[in-house]
Amino acid sequence: MHVCLAFGCREKERLHITTPLTTRWCAHANSFARGGGATNSTCPRKGRMTATAPTTTTKDDSDVNEMKKKTKVPFPHLRDIHAYEPTTFLYNPGELHPQKIKKQDWIRVFRMALPEFTKRAKMDETVEDADVKSEVFRERFEKYLNDLNENEDEKMNVIHMCRFRDECLRRLGFYDCFRTVKREENMKALEALPRVLERLEEENAGILELVKGVFAGNIFDLGAAASQALFTDGDKGGEDDISKSFFETRDTKTDVFVVNNFDALKERWNDLTRVHEKCCIFVDNAGADVILGVLPLAREMLKRGTKVVLCANDVPSINDITIKELEELVFPTLLRMNDKDNVFKKAIESGQLACIGSGSDLPVIDLREISEPCANECLDCDLVVLIGMGRGIETNLRAEFSIDRINLGMVKHEEVAQLLNGPLYSCVCAFNAGANTV
Ligand code: MG
Repeated sequence: MHVCLAFGCREKERLHITTPLTTRWCAHANSFARGGGATNSTCPRKGRMTATAPTTTTKDDSDVNEMKKKTKVPFPHLRDIHAYEPTTFLYNPGELHPQKIKKQDWIRVFRMALPEFTKRAKMDETVEDADVKSEVFRERFEKYLNDLNENEDEKMNVIHMCRFRDECLRRLGFYDCFRTVKREENMKALEALPRVLERLEEENAGILELVKGVFAGNIFDLGAAASQALFTDGDKGGEDDISKSFFETRDTKTDVFVVNNFDALKERWNDLTRVHEKCCIFVDNAGADVILGVLPLAREMLKRGTKVVLCANDVPSINDITIKELEELVFPTLLRMNDKDNVFKKAIESGQLACIGSGSDLPVIDLREISEPCANECLDCDLVVLIGMGRGIETNLRAEFSIDRINLGMVKHEEVAQLLNGPLYSCVCAFNAGANTV
């Protein structure tokens, strides 16, 4: 039986949560300055794309361009910005290098994910002639991959490839072609969250159960071909089954830790004499990932008195949650949720729990270039958590920080699993005490 989070329900939205965009659950007012009121966009940014077919300009382009114009600054707790490289693995190691995964293997990873992107683009009802344009996208990205395969490109890495794919989509007008599936998954997960929290309270969940919950949620990822297959083939149970499936997944599919600093993490977590004061969490996917996996972990931090900031993409990329979705759907729902002791409501109203745009438009993150408000918000953090394969494994697994760090992610590429010497769907639990905290 496949791993099943009962994500697969394709019914139209049955919940109609109206979400006024109001007031301050975000620490920085300028997080709200985006969106709406879009005007004619300026010229699309000149990138490395060489395709010359006509592009489509949408009102959402102004969001992208606004975000790109904003100053980008480094995450303030990189131990040595000059030594920092936002890539964990080599992407073009050459035939003689001992790394077994070569350039053509990474190209295959992106090629295998392409049908899902094409499918989602084709289904995008906000784009005129989506069926034609989705094919243009497919052809352009195929050509890009073929060119990469044939030509030596020293600069090739996961960030460049993700950026090309996203820009290719945006230039054709596909600003957020995963929006429908993200919304469905967010709705279902938010409805299941109270049951998940109840059960976690009943079982008196500790850090192991919470971390495994993050892994269970992180399986959902439409950017990875293996995960797409799970999503498509899994049990199409209704939303009543989601919490049950979530726990089944947590309890049966998260036992293999391919990077395992869990004992050190547990020791630090259980040291109640120095509970972290403030934690920034760079979140990953919409739906069960952030809502059933990350929020319960964040809630436990809040109960211990830690301030928590969720840092999310400003611009949509694959099925990653965006700051707008957190502000307009997730936080308003948390405010209304009657979880035990109203932990979320109190934390949001007091500013103990906030969210902010990271400045990213990618499914990975280069911590040399985050938004200034995000960097300012992170200044007084003493813990950083990086969630998921893109941010936690493929770009920042080896990053060094001056504060405590946790990377949590499920390995959903066979190639990454090989490089970490583990099986597909093994878990990464990295923890390091910060250089300034020991
Ligand atoms: Mg993701």
